[in-house]
Amino acid sequence: MDRYLVFGHPVRHSKSPFIHTLFARQTQQELEYGLAEPAVDEFAQALRTFFEQGGKGCNVTVPFKEQAFTLVDHLSPRAKRAGAVNTIKLTDDGVLLGDNTDGAGLVADLKSHGVTLADSRILLLGAGGAARGALAPLLAELPSELVIANRTHAKAQQLAAEFCDLGHVTAQTYEQLAGSFDLVINSTSASLQGELPPLAPALIHTDIAIYDMMYGASDTAFISWAKQHGARQTMDGLGMLVEQAAEAFTVWRGIRPGTKQVLRELKRNLGVI
Ligand code: NDP
Repeated sequence: MDRYLVFGHPVRHSKSPFIHTLFARQTQQELEYGLAEPAVDEFAQALRTFFEQGGKGCNVTVPFKEQAFTLVDHLSPRAKRAGAVNTIKLTDDGVLLGDNTDGAGLVADLKSHGVTLADSRILLLGAGGAARGALAPLLAELPSELVIANRTHAKAQQLAAEFCDLGHVTAQTYEQLAGSFDLVINSTSASLQGELPPLAPALIHTDIAIYDMMYGASDTAFISWAKQHGARQTMDGLGMLVEQAAEAFTVWRGIRPGTKQVLRELKRNLGVI
């Protein structure tokens, strides 16, 4: 049977095996999908061994995405732009192809929630790996402006400079942010520590759409905060997780699984519904 898995550390709580097992059942593909948690300095060897032993493809998550970028034979254009790889496929010619499906997953999920990206003013919080992966797919939707704000301002400036050929993208400090945004995307890891990015409440209004890449069984700290300040449309990153997985599955199997039912089952599994 064709073997796939996700590499991460820690990875025990990953929902990827659950999601891909449902995709395989739905599309009648025969495959198994597991977990691998190599020590942080043993990822390269573990990846090599997996493919030597017949593995067909894998996902890569924190903290290995940047390292995976350096270990594959070929990079897709979107992986090149993202500077990180979250999906690897062994091609029929024995080539390891590195791809990045995170940004496509985010955009697909935003669209499935009816969020309009064209001509919109977007605020992206954070300038880490997730922000980097999101930038090209977001800019491809032709927003009127995309502003990046990050605790370490120099990193936001660096990202804006790197992506300014793709659209109107600028960096501002949290203190500089002003005017009305249509969409705020939180790509910081602040919620992991129960913290909030230092965003002024005045930026939140009833018609703003709020997206937190984090997810959990209940509202993330950022979503709770945004609701308190009047945001009516809030979304967490669970849909992004399922959509990026669907994109990876498509890369591996050449067949696109449906995501709606799988997302519903995942929510049930997490106790969200
Ligand atoms: P990184 O570690 O690369 O980046 C973290 C970012 O968060 C940095 O910009 C950092 O700022 C900022 N940050 C951290 N703590 C705070 C804080 N207290 N206040 C303000 N900013 C803060 O992480 P990733 O980009 O890889 O991941 C970010 C989040 O996105 C994670 O929570 C991850 O789970 C989620 N994610 C979700 C996915 C999904 O499918 N739903 C896919 C990928 C990621 P600084 O530069 O100043 O350190």
